[in-house]
Amino acid sequence: MLTVKPLDHDRVGIPANDQLGVMNMKPATEVLARLVCLPGLLCSVLLPASFGYCQDALATANRNELSASLRQDRSETYFQYSIWGAFVNKVFEGDLSVAEMKKRGDVGLGSYTLLEGELVMLDGIPYRIEETGVVSVPKDEDKIVYANAAFFDEDASFEIPEINNYEMLRQIIRDRLPSLNYFYAFKITGTFESMKCGGLSRQEPPFKDGLDILIPNRPVFERQNFKGTLIGFYCPGFIGDINVEGFHFHFISDDKQFGGHAMEFKAKDLHVAIDKMKQYTFVLPESEKFEAVEFDKQFQYQQK
Ligand SMILES: [Zn+2]
Repeated sequence: MLTVKPLDHDRVGIPANDQLGVMNMKPATEVLARLVCLPGLLCSVLLPASFGYCQDALATANRNELSASLRQDRSETYFQYSIWGAFVNKVFEGDLSVAEMKKRGDVGLGSYTLLEGELVMLDGIPYRIEETGVVSVPKDEDKIVYANAAFFDEDASFEIPEINNYEMLRQIIRDRLPSLNYFYAFKITGTFESMKCGGLSRQEPPFKDGLDILIPNRPVFERQNFKGTLIGFYCPGFIGDINVEGFHFHFISDDKQFGGHAMEFKAKDLHVAIDKMKQYTFVLPESEKFEAVEFDKQFQYQQK
């Protein structure tokens, strides 16, 4: 079960009758597979003549159970390409294609190779926020240098009437999560009274600066009073330099004209959907740059 915790109403001003989203974490398909298996077992005792049939039924049940378990793996797995420490240390050429990224989830965030734009994936479509702020849809063969993705399987949701800033959102989510020791994906929709997003500027090899220099000097885009979706992830502190510790959100507007790495915002009527994940997969780049990278620089966003 994933039950989001009730809020400290006095502190964040949420109505006391706010309905909490609750969902059984075990997919119905897996339960079904176990039930299918049971008649097969009974059958082998009561009707020995049809043992062959029972074996078939068992094999089918096992296959059902396996495929249910694979489906559960898919919905329970946080996928990451490259590692944050490599990205920070100038591994700016990636070999993950957009087509491969789409096989790893229907929501995601990241950056394109040579830092040619920020990536946000919503409903299975990756978008590119170019250096100028223009939003485009990449080709399947375009390459990604760093990515996080998941098949979003909503476990719980709740509403937030209004937030004044990013830290307020982080604090409310931290208070509502049952544990900060798991991985989570988020899909947060609402009206954004103001939104400030960061982009990236294309880099040419040999790369001079790491992310510790590039991120504070990134292009910044701003827009007011419009609707959109924050797509993001939470990683526990034990992730170290493998990924971003705490929260990391990218954003895309409903009209698909504005987006980027979420830096600061004020918003209202937010619907926060949460997917808890307990499996984690990461794939390392296959490149000379990655083979030789030394993890001497460290960089994490200041607010976690
Ligand atoms: Zn980002």
